[in-house]
Amino acid sequence: MADRERLTKTLMDLIRIDSPTGEEDAVDREVSVRLQALGFQVYHDSFQNIIAKLDGQGEPVILSAHLDTVEPGRGITPVLEGDILRSDGTTILGGDCKAGVTIVLEALTAVVESRAPHLPIEVVFTRAEEGGLVGIHNLEFSRLSATRGVVFDGEGKVNRLTLAAPSQNVVTAHIQGRASHAGVEPEKGISALLIAAKILTQLPLGRIDEETTANIGRLEGGLKRNIIPEKAFLDGEIRSRDRGKLDQYSQQFREVFDRVAAEYPEARVSLDIRNSYQAYHLEGSDPSVEMIARALERVGLVPSLESSGGGSDANVFIENGITALPVGIGVHSFHTKDETAVISEVLQGAEVCEQIITGL
Ligand SMILES: [Zn+2]
Repeated sequence: MADRERLTKTLMDLIRIDSPTGEEDAVDREVSVRLQALGFQVYHDSFQNIIAKLDGQGEPVILSAHLDTVEPGRGITPVLEGDILRSDGTTILGGDCKAGVTIVLEALTAVVESRAPHLPIEVVFTRAEEGGLVGIHNLEFSRLSATRGVVFDGEGKVNRLTLAAPSQNVVTAHIQGRASHAGVEPEKGISALLIAAKILTQLPLGRIDEETTANIGRLEGGLKRNIIPEKAFLDGEIRSRDRGKLDQYSQQFREVFDRVAAEYPEARVSLDIRNSYQAYHLEGSDPSVEMIARALERVGLVPSLESSGGGSDANVFIENGITALPVGIGVHSFHTKDETAVISEVLQGAEVCEQIITGL
């Protein structure tokens, strides 16, 4: 049985190991040692994602989470108050996704300890999820034999099952104008920032409809107060759960960039729109959904089938033919200094995970 005290200790231990995106080595070592102690064969692929396997009986299942956290996520001090774990207020907690990793480790520990029969298990702990699903994009999928699984990386309680998630196109643009002295000969300059601003005001942004959003999250440019800015850089995204709308709004973005660029024939505007991950929609009758729903019901929880506005490693698993679905990990307010983990909910996650791997 999943043990509350052991789970709390694991979670706090992992949170104390810094692992901002790109700096996952230390937490990787800790997690790998724990998996080996449980009898797993631990393999690192060329991106240093963890793929760990344990033999069992029946149809194999993937249990996945990610090792990295967002910033500010260094020197995190977890503070436990009753059922609630939070940071000291100066950093995120890192429950996203240390609670996911903890859920998997605790469930595995409980099952191995009990010597109960279980399914063949394939644990996938990715790196650089927060950097734009970079780890999973580089995962050696050929190493996996399971076609179903669970991604422990959702906000809220474990019964929150994400059945639909959007596609994302990443939008970047470089604008090259011309520098000149702003006081002496401004007429010789072409302001890259002004071009960027014109583009910004014409783009469809924010919530476009029920299933589509767009954002320019970063605009950089210019050097000094008295120089007409020569360069500007825009970084943004478009998301939709509908592939057609994603294409349609990407096309609108291109048209706006072209139109504004045409007003400045001497400037250079280069736009790049590329797909980062694909949308998915699963039905309640999908075998992976049923597997998770059964496990939830066994611990007395009612599945809540939801659609999400964000992508996760699950999008890329599904793109690769593996229906690994995201569930909640008992963590709230992801990516903020107010992030909390509710221990009783994390524990429920471990109990559900146990039910999944014992395959009852
Ligand atoms: Zn996450």
